[in-house]
Amino acid sequence: MTFSHWQRPHSFSLPGFSTDVLILGGGFVGLSTAWWLSEMDPSLKITVLDRRQVGEGASGRNAGFLTKGSAQFYRELNRLYGKEIALSILNFSDTSIQLLHQNILRSSPEIKTEKSQSITLLKKNQTSDAWKGDFSPEEFSFEWIDSPQLFPTLGTGFSGGYVNSIQEYKINPMQIIQSLKMSLEARKIQIVENISGFELTPEGCRTEVHTIKAKKIVLALNGYLPQFHPSLKPFVTARRAQMLAVEFEGELDSPYLHYDPADLVYWRKSADNVLLIGGKRMLDVDNEVGDFDRLSAVIQNSLEDYIRDTIGLKYKILHRWAGTMGFTGTDLPIIQEVQAPLTTYIVGGFSGHGMGMGFHAAKQTASLITGEITESFFSGIKKESIQL
Ligand SMILES: Cc1cc2nc3c(=O)[nH]c(=O)nc-3n(C[C@H](O)[C@H](O)[C@H](O)COP(=O)(O)OP(=O)(O)OC[C@H]3O[C@@H](n4cnc5c(N)ncnc54)[C@H](O)[C@@H]3O)c2cc1C
Repeated sequence: MTFSHWQRPHSFSLPGFSTDVLILGGGFVGLSTAWWLSEMDPSLKITVLDRRQVGEGASGRNAGFLTKGSAQFYRELNRLYGKEIALSILNFSDTSIQLLHQNILRSSPEIKTEKSQSITLLKKNQTSDAWKGDFSPEEFSFEWIDSPQLFPTLGTGFSGGYVNSIQEYKINPMQIIQSLKMSLEARKIQIVENISGFELTPEGCRTEVHTIKAKKIVLALNGYLPQFHPSLKPFVTARRAQMLAVEFEGELDSPYLHYDPADLVYWRKSADNVLLIGGKRMLDVDNEVGDFDRLSAVIQNSLEDYIRDTIGLKYKILHRWAGTMGFTGTDLPIIQEVQAPLTTYIVGGFSGHGMGMGFHAAKQTASLITGEITESFFSGIKKESIQL
């Protein structure tokens, strides 16, 4: 979205402004990249630019699952890359959660996190053996919970579920975004909102008002990468996801982060007794492509059916929303330098798992920029040939 001459924001009027590293995208990953860069080299002048406000994209619209995993199950990762790489992909997000906890969550009382564990629910007609290969319980410590131990209404539809034994979290993603923003501002990192970057030049990035001169650029635009440059279309596809927040009657004594792979649904209860539910993307797959904001009636209705019929709750709608995610061909993120008019890095394509992977991905991006590493973990698996 751009602004007209009459609507234009007045907050940023610095012709000739220059910076060492300009990060396009003030989502979780862009802000985290700025945080890591300033940790690694406090002398760097760093600027984050967002075309709306920080957290405007998926980072402020997600379900708040901070869970270990990737878009693909272990079985598929193992088939594609072998056991060692499959395990290290899953461990990438585990490390990410630990890094986020050690560096941000633990020391930020304004972020209200709830410790939790994820459970993958299996339908009545599925046995615990059916999914063993997908999750490799031999490699990761999972506990099988039988249906009588589930919340009673769930026990009628599910045979049980695998509970991941590692520490995971329920988060309010906007609290993390605001906390990161505050700590960056305290470090004198400039955060410019309501200005879009639209073209890279050898000097920097052209915006709606000025060219911001920069030595290095980071494109932390995730689902908006193909919109930023058409050459990115073969590498990242923008897909929408729908969310619903409801109040419910009675108790829901199920503390987990719930995944139901058969119905492609994920849901959880927040500390203030709100049920947050998302998924069912496959019901409207052709319409859920693109980076514009739109509610899907078929998905929203189906999420409501799920609350009523599968979870077994009477509910009242509080809020509906949609968000844009960036998917890659492999479902693995792209973190690498690309050919461009000036030194440019891409970090994006989280395929729906950017909160779980983003902090570690940001550290890798910062390490590429400072020269601490020459290749990210993911480009070691697959490096793309991208020219802007
Ligand atoms: C409904 C939904 C539920 C999800 N649930 C989960 C979950 O529970 N757990 C999980 O791990 N992941 C989840 N995800 C995925 C996760 O939210 C994303 O992977 C993650 O937020 C990506 O962060 P990002 O910073 O890379 O991108 P974004 O948050 O999308 O940030 C990109 C930013 O770029 C800005 N921008 C765009 N174009 C320009 C431009 N030209 N110039 C300047 N700025 C620009 C946008 O305004 C935006 O703020 C979910 C996503 C959605 C949509």
